[in-house]
Amino acid sequence: MARPTLARILTGNLRHNARRVREEAPRSRIMACVKADAYGHGITTASEALNDIVDGFAVACISEALALRDAGIKKPVLMLEGPQSPDEVPEAAHKDLTLCVNEWHQLEWLEKAGLSAPLACWLKIDTGMHRLGFSPQRTAEALQRLERKAKNPELVLCTHFSSADLPKDNGVEAQVRAFDEVAATTAYAHSLANSAAILTIPESHRHWVRPGYMLYGGSPLADAAAATLNLKPAMEFVAEVISVRDVSVGERVGYRGRWEARRPSRIATVAAGYGDGYPRHAPDGTPVFINGKVAPLAGRVSMDMITVDVTEHPDIAVGAKAVLWGGEPTVDEVATAADTIGYEILAGMPKRVPRVVED
Ligand SMILES: *Cc1c(COP(=O)(O)O)cnc(C)c1O
Repeated sequence: MARPTLARILTGNLRHNARRVREEAPRSRIMACVKADAYGHGITTASEALNDIVDGFAVACISEALALRDAGIKKPVLMLEGPQSPDEVPEAAHKDLTLCVNEWHQLEWLEKAGLSAPLACWLKIDTGMHRLGFSPQRTAEALQRLERKAKNPELVLCTHFSSADLPKDNGVEAQVRAFDEVAATTAYAHSLANSAAILTIPESHRHWVRPGYMLYGGSPLADAAAATLNLKPAMEFVAEVISVRDVSVGERVGYRGRWEARRPSRIATVAAGYGDGYPRHAPDGTPVFINGKVAPLAGRVSMDMITVDVTEHPDIAVGAKAVLWGGEPTVDEVATAADTIGYEILAGMPKRVPRVVED
């Protein structure tokens, strides 16, 4: 029998979340972010499930873009980081990919590519993230050069928010202002909003929104749970209890004995560890659901297993079903406990965990 450790990919919930994007930004087109193997859910699975709801797909690099074309996706595919070498320009043109042009050297590659037809392009403006994009002062110059190479009617001006997940002092207003000072003088389409901005900043929606995390049912907001935003988890990470034992007061559990029994305790060992994507830094007390009941992590996370204090739940036995994240607990709760973000946990889900696709 196979190891009972797997990630159920719930495509119905993925589709529900995409419709939530539509509901929040009804006048915008949706560029679904499926980079990093669709945040660990599987790029083919996710793009097929979303294809009839969204208007395009965004990825980081050309290998991800080609995976979408190989899966038969015909919609626009945007390479967010743009070409990473000159030879990616004709390759992208050949596959009808859309290039986000972020840097002067990328513009030069486009100019030197000798393309026979204009290319689908976005142009990124650096309004404050200071990671990629042209400075507002020099955007007009970059745009003028790009206009000679791009399919002009389809050109999109874009920027990215650094802190839209924070409820205040997030710098969004200043970023929108900096964007508009440059973009409003052109007739081109705009794209600003990530998941957090889709949910909280309607004036950033414009022509194209770029949801990622919310599609997968996580909360992109620091101060709101996914359920209160009507988002549903697209992944349920499950495993089983493979051992149960009693430990006496003063006995310790796991590597370096981090957890110590303060009362006669029962410890359940669950077959999922950091080698399966469970965060190694999760502290004692991180919630694990077994047989539908919450129980605290007890002891360090091992590569293939975790240990859980199930003293309160005498019915839990070998074979009991454990949910590491999904509806309860949410991946955001586990991430918060482990001092990280759900994005990192999902994107880090290793190949070893089979993805089982369900409706
Ligand atoms: C990943 C990414 C997004 C999506 O962000 P979420 O917070 O996951 O919604 C949007 N835009 C760009 C440029 C990105 O790299």
